[in-house]
Amino acid sequence: MSSMTICARFRPLSSKETRDHGDTVCIQCIDDETFLFKDEKDEEFTFSFDKVFYEKSEQAQVYEFLAWPIVKDAVDVINGTIITYGQTGAGKTYSMEGPSILVCDEQKRGLLPRVVEGLFDCIKSSGGTMKHSIKLSMVEIYMEKVRDLFDLSKDNIQIKESKSQGILLNGVTEISVSDPTEALQSLSSGIANRAVGETQMNMASSRSHCIYIFTVHQEVKRDDRLKTGKLILVDLAGSEKVEKTGAEGKVLEEAKTINKSLSVLGNVINALTCGSPGKANHIPFRDSKLTRILQDSLGGNSRTALLCCCSPSPSNALESLSTLRFGMRAKHIKMSPRVKCN
Ligand code: ADP
Repeated sequence: MSSMTICARFRPLSSKETRDHGDTVCIQCIDDETFLFKDEKDEEFTFSFDKVFYEKSEQAQVYEFLAWPIVKDAVDVINGTIITYGQTGAGKTYSMEGPSILVCDEQKRGLLPRVVEGLFDCIKSSGGTMKHSIKLSMVEIYMEKVRDLFDLSKDNIQIKESKSQGILLNGVTEISVSDPTEALQSLSSGIANRAVGETQMNMASSRSHCIYIFTVHQEVKRDDRLKTGKLILVDLAGSEKVEKTGAEGKVLEEAKTINKSLSVLGNVINALTCGSPGKANHIPFRDSKLTRILQDSLGGNSRTALLCCCSPSPSNALESLSTLRFGMRAKHIKMSPRVKCN
């Protein structure tokens, strides 16, 4: 039994935040794991995570700590999941993708291109006793519908459960990739298909949860056995409260749906952390598509890491506090295969 790896990341102040509040920040670093957080009423809270990445942290540091151990295990077909959580504009997509997954400064490359390269490097160095193959799928959950980002005609993918393979996306496109360039090109075409809406929070904010799925097949030459593991990366939609988005009409509906699925994620986390030790607990995985897809990741059989992305500005203190509290709750999840689904 192991718990999730939970990290917090603070992006640098934006130019708007600097205009409004100068260089004031609501966090005070204590060390790599602990910081003081001051809310808008000057109340202080101490938070401790497995690691805290402050404004000057590099993308490579986030990858090394949070993703690399999961990537290594994925090549050994151990399921892994990496999730970015936080309000719109907090740095989820920057952390996940970087400015672009195809061309950007080496230093700024996000988790996704690093994971792709890490996977292929690990396979190369795993020697000749095993043969690996990798397949990619990419979906987004938009308004509680699972859309295939490699084939937009598949706009309502059903989620199924198999005893031997766990949670499956019925009929989802799977692209076989044989090198990092091929993989990144496929992922880039999927990213271009993401639905984006416009809110007052962030003109290009993504209103959907984006899920990247790497299926790793490992064939042991000696006895022809084929093992399969999944590495899932999730860039969640913004966690801000509906009122703050100033949304109306369709955008309001989108925001409510996002809030609902994130609150189900919170309920699942609560249920996983509040269960009696050793006793199977009712976990509401089926209450949203997001938690259904993440069922294997949260309920056991997976190494999972959560990156809680926050703004360091006092103007976003309320949302940052809510993100950090979400992370603290998740910290208490014990990954146990005994969890029962409803
Ligand atoms: P989100 O995906 O949470 O909505 P983004 O990742 O789009 O937020 O980040 C919002 C803005 O902040 C972008 O312009 C992004 O480039 C910038 N940003 C986020 N995190 C960092 C960081 N660690 N370093 C530099 N810029 C960042």
